[in-house]
Amino acid sequence: MKLEINEFGTASKRFLLNHELRGATMRGTENWNGKRATAYGELDDVEAMKQYAATVKDHTLANLDHYLALLADNIEQRGGHVHFAQDAQAAREAVLAVARAAGARRVVKSKSMLSEEIELNGALEQAGLNVVETDLGEYILQMEGEHPSHIVGPAMHKPKDEVLRLFHRLHEMPLDASVDQLAAKAREVIRDEYLTADIGISGTNFAVAETGSVVTVENEGNARLTTSVPRVHIALMGMEKVIPRIEDLGVFLKLLPRAATGQRSTSFVSIITGPKRAEEPEGPEEFHLVIVDNGRTGVLADPELRSTLRCIRCGACLNVCPVYQQVGGHSYGWVYSGPIGSVLNPALLGIEEAKTLPFASSLCGACGEVCPVKIPLPQQLVALRQRAVSHGLMAVGEAAGMRGFGSLMGHPSLYRLANAAARFSPKKDGKLPRLALPMLREWQTSRNFPAPAPRSFHDLWRTGLNQEDLTRADDTKQGPNHQPPESSRETK
Ligand code: SF4
Repeated sequence: MKLEINEFGTASKRFLLNHELRGATMRGTENWNGKRATAYGELDDVEAMKQYAATVKDHTLANLDHYLALLADNIEQRGGHVHFAQDAQAAREAVLAVARAAGARRVVKSKSMLSEEIELNGALEQAGLNVVETDLGEYILQMEGEHPSHIVGPAMHKPKDEVLRLFHRLHEMPLDASVDQLAAKAREVIRDEYLTADIGISGTNFAVAETGSVVTVENEGNARLTTSVPRVHIALMGMEKVIPRIEDLGVFLKLLPRAATGQRSTSFVSIITGPKRAEEPEGPEEFHLVIVDNGRTGVLADPELRSTLRCIRCGACLNVCPVYQQVGGHSYGWVYSGPIGSVLNPALLGIEEAKTLPFASSLCGACGEVCPVKIPLPQQLVALRQRAVSHGLMAVGEAAGMRGFGSLMGHPSLYRLANAAARFSPKKDGKLPRLALPMLREWQTSRNFPAPAPRSFHDLWRTGLNQEDLTRADDTKQGPNHQPPESSRETK
């Protein structure tokens, strides 16, 4: 499921033409944007908290070998098992080995983007295991054979009508069922799965090295059931998810739900430390943590991109991104989407595999501002663009266009000549006519070049303003000389 050349362009165009999907994505992101702004506003000093979180993450990343070893020791002391997996295949094999040893047939899963990254479901099903996603959004996508389009709201792109049709087909629900009725039906269907599952597979939001605990943060309660009802619990974790101390957790638990969904806290926070103990009445008999590298060591060694490993997968950068809002998550072609995907996908897969993504940004800076762990996403996007260019990975027409523009801007005489040509060429409705250049064809379908000013800045600088220029400047200062329609000035 890796990116092909220019796939972003084709996929995003398909999404742009689908008004239903675009509308659902826009409503979902705007809803969370509003809530996040309110929730951030309630904190006394959100910037200090973000800085603290970033510092904790940087400290951990600088001492990652130490904290991962401490985490593993503490888990094993409490009766758990830790498996280190260098790549996706090793991670899948680790999970399958546990499943085989447990004689498992049925698996329930709670939401884990890492399981998408390592393509776990396919491997489990190929090995004959029955896998059921228990997060409502993930369940909908599993039934539809789709992948998540958002880190936090996996089915954000799905309009309600589509979900109604799905539940009508699968569970004979009426086509006008309410959201509550749909959720109740899903709960009824999925509850039975926990009782017959041999293994529960969860993601990990944080892992605390000093206590050997993994932490899951969720709203539906399905992760808690997944991690506690089946007799074996397997937690998946990217190696960057470890934090040193339990007291650091508090800041992350304040920032993550606020940044993600605008909540002060999620409905469920589970801190899991090893398997069930002798004195405990319930819980899994076995606990396994699979710690996955899958390219992260390379990112750690990259000074420009290392801070992407601070990411706590809150999805806030997706929600504020004007590109993500318009093109949705599937356009990015791999697991991670939006600004973090545009950096993380090339960082993990290599710039050759995801060369179009760093260009999928307006560089407005909103992602960097909203990030709760202060990842400089806009700067990283620019750095990756430079790498794409230096590796000769830009499309031929685009590279030629940029070279032409570079020559124009680098040679004053050429620039002046082009300016003069533009000023004296015939205009239509005050705009320049469209140029018949193939590389501009797409761009010009919705835009015209504005006509240049009658006199260039260079000319004005050299000769000063004349009476005509002064009159024009005066008109501009006074604003438009037309009046609003009479009716709009009536007092109501
Ligand atoms: S990069 Fe920052 S804003 Fe984006 S998902 Fe990660 S933590 Fe959240």
